[in-house]
Amino acid sequence: MLRTKKKISLMIPVNTPLLSGNEEKYLRECIKTGWISSEGPFVSKFETEFASYIGMRHGIAVANGSGALDIAIQALDIGVGDEVIMPTFTIVSPAFSVVRAGATPVLIDSDPFTWNIDVHQIEEKITYKTKAIVVVHIYGLPVDMDPVIALCEKYNLFLIEDGAEMHGQDYKGQSIGSFGHLSTFSFYPNKIITTGEGGMILSNDDKLAERCKKLRNLAFEPDKPRFVHYEMGWNYRMTNLQAALGLAQLEKIDEHIRRKREIGLLYMQGLTMLENCRLPIESTSYAANIYWVFGIVAKTETHKENWVANLSKNGIGTRPFFWCMHEQPVFMKMGLFKNETYPVAELLARNGFYIPSGLGLTNENVYAVINALLSLN
Ligand SMILES: *Cc1c(COP(=O)(O)O)cnc(C)c1O
Repeated sequence: MLRTKKKISLMIPVNTPLLSGNEEKYLRECIKTGWISSEGPFVSKFETEFASYIGMRHGIAVANGSGALDIAIQALDIGVGDEVIMPTFTIVSPAFSVVRAGATPVLIDSDPFTWNIDVHQIEEKITYKTKAIVVVHIYGLPVDMDPVIALCEKYNLFLIEDGAEMHGQDYKGQSIGSFGHLSTFSFYPNKIITTGEGGMILSNDDKLAERCKKLRNLAFEPDKPRFVHYEMGWNYRMTNLQAALGLAQLEKIDEHIRRKREIGLLYMQGLTMLENCRLPIESTSYAANIYWVFGIVAKTETHKENWVANLSKNGIGTRPFFWCMHEQPVFMKMGLFKNETYPVAELLARNGFYIPSGLGLTNENVYAVINALLSLN
């Protein structure tokens, strides 16, 4: 029997992007000039302007943020026999990149307050095989970078920053994405700026940047005969159409960040009375929350399930938090992370969810979400 899926149209989806600037104008320009592939002029312009916004010398635009990580791992020659330290509580992308390269992810539990990698648990996991640390800045507050940088210097490790959720966020006044040997960004529609699908790698190292540029384009060799290849690469090129969107979005990034923080603060104020949960923390000694998404950690899994189901009944979208890497069926089947447990991350994964946080939200939407949550308390 065919099961018919009842279509509930969400009144307030978990994300709505904001395309309020020159997006249409620049896209028309692509169509009028016929420049729609990765060869178009907006691509290098977007690379230069985004890199300079973050404060890095080189930007390499790619098809998405996961591809940016694939390239970063390969560009650093991470492969069989190498270990890469990363949080267990993250999107799967960095773990996929590392495992595909034949290397092993070494996982770290989360900090219960910022939900980021617990930097104080890293050093005990460093071995002679460790080649890199991937930090993932999660949901709104950046990773505490100073201790990570100190470890990378002490043990001569590469640092990759996944800044996909944190364009324009600072750590002690310096841009996220400007600390790593390589840093990666995504421009998926729920990110702070979007190109529909898209990503970027940033670096201050001329050679690494050249390598990334080559790897995103099937590893064509710039100085050798065309169609003769010396290593494997990817087709992760960004199109001129995507870069056109990106440039228009970048013109508005400060406004986007201001609005994210405004939505975050409205939720913080509106939800102070919400019981049986923990709200995000507004700031740490090194950064103010950018509220890329507004996460809530319920006291129990049941509380979370009730909230999510009831919000959904009210037409309000939610998303669960990430599921830990050490509990991913795909990795368990491979025999990875056997008998490993990370209690803080497991609790976040089970009890955490986030409420509508897109830039397209109106204040009325935010109040409606707050009222729905409070009335279900
Ligand atoms: C969104 C995201 C990615 C993946 O980006 P895509 O463009 O969707 O491939 C990678 N890392 C983090 C932390 C993300 O939030």
